[in-house]
Amino acid sequence: MTRKLYQEDVYKKECESTVVDIQGSGTAGAPFVLVLDETIFFPTGGGQPCDLGTIDGIPLTEVYEKDGVVFHKLLPFSQENQDQTSIAKWKVGGRASCVLDWERRFEHMQRHCGEHILSGIFFRECGGVNRGFHMGSGYMTIDIDLPGITWEEAQRIETMTNEVIWANVPVTTRYYEDRAEAEKLPLRKALTVDEDISIVSVGDESNPADCVACCGTHPSTSGQVGLLKVLKLENYKGMTRVYFKAGREALIDYQNKHRVLSELHVKYSSDDNDLLVKMNVQDEKNKEVRQELNLMKNTLIGKAIDEILSNYGTAELKKEGHRISSPWLLIREYPYFQVNNLLTISKALTEKLAGPKPLIALVSTRENIVILATSGKHDCGKIVKDNAHVWRGKGGGNAAGARVMFPSRDDLDCFITFVSQVCQNAK
Ligand SMILES: [Zn+2]
Repeated sequence: MTRKLYQEDVYKKECESTVVDIQGSGTAGAPFVLVLDETIFFPTGGGQPCDLGTIDGIPLTEVYEKDGVVFHKLLPFSQENQDQTSIAKWKVGGRASCVLDWERRFEHMQRHCGEHILSGIFFRECGGVNRGFHMGSGYMTIDIDLPGITWEEAQRIETMTNEVIWANVPVTTRYYEDRAEAEKLPLRKALTVDEDISIVSVGDESNPADCVACCGTHPSTSGQVGLLKVLKLENYKGMTRVYFKAGREALIDYQNKHRVLSELHVKYSSDDNDLLVKMNVQDEKNKEVRQELNLMKNTLIGKAIDEILSNYGTAELKKEGHRISSPWLLIREYPYFQVNNLLTISKALTEKLAGPKPLIALVSTRENIVILATSGKHDCGKIVKDNAHVWRGKGGGNAAGARVMFPSRDDLDCFITFVSQVCQNAK
């Protein structure tokens, strides 16, 4: 059994231990795993991630426990940390210097203790028991076995939780050999073990904010949690899943949200009270502008279709030098239409153009995109697939329609010239 120094003094940040067992060889496939006579590192358990830190300067990657023995897995040696090989000359019975990543541990203590208080208050105020705890990298969740807890209720509990934090009451851990003795306490949850029971209480044991069996690490007073914020509620398997943050992560969250909000206030010339109103006003304005723009675009699309339908194939248009190569090919360029607008035009043309069915090539000069469409003999998809890559074009389609995008206008022009020749030859 490893002596767990974090149970005796949760604030101990360094220790000198004796090596009891060494596994592995330090390679990526078999990293060193050390067993020590005593450790300051908390192993993964009870919903709390493990501690990290270093042993003789080599970073820990994982700490886990099996049958009371704590195992310390170390970063394998690599090109980058090769010099560490000189340090890692452990032998059984030799000494090892342990240094805890205190910032990480303290954040875990803050978060974990915050969870105790929040769960304890939910139990005291609503009778809801926390049936599942998850400590994720960005937030925590608890599953309270009551359906449909309202946001108002959760906010009331959140305020009471913070009041317990501000009261800075003691957080104590007591160890009991005897289950019956431990069960005299006002426990939030029934015990699941018969011996070696550690009970954590927040506040006075006669009327605690929380009292439950737990083997995690906790600060000595509730005030060190700093802050707890409930983020959202979710229905989960007939229970209510509560998302929240505590301690430093809650402060960082507030700092981030304040930064975002401040930028929005500058953008909308607003404050906390009228930001949403001003955003809604702006949304309405944007909606009107979009409607106006759509109306104008649809008018232009209609005009473009009418122009082609009334002129295509006439001698007059050929004379003007529009990019019409033959009755078999119709080319148009548009600087202001997007691809979906060109698709609308090509659809109307393939349906309505009288006479011989040409290959239609519509060009968006803004995006260097060509839309090919036809109801005639050409296979648009095949033309693109077989040839566009020559000019670095990317796209595809089927016989009736295809699209292809080019990296430059020059590439696009070469492709159009090629397509013109195809149509000339096929005449
Ligand atoms: Zn705990």
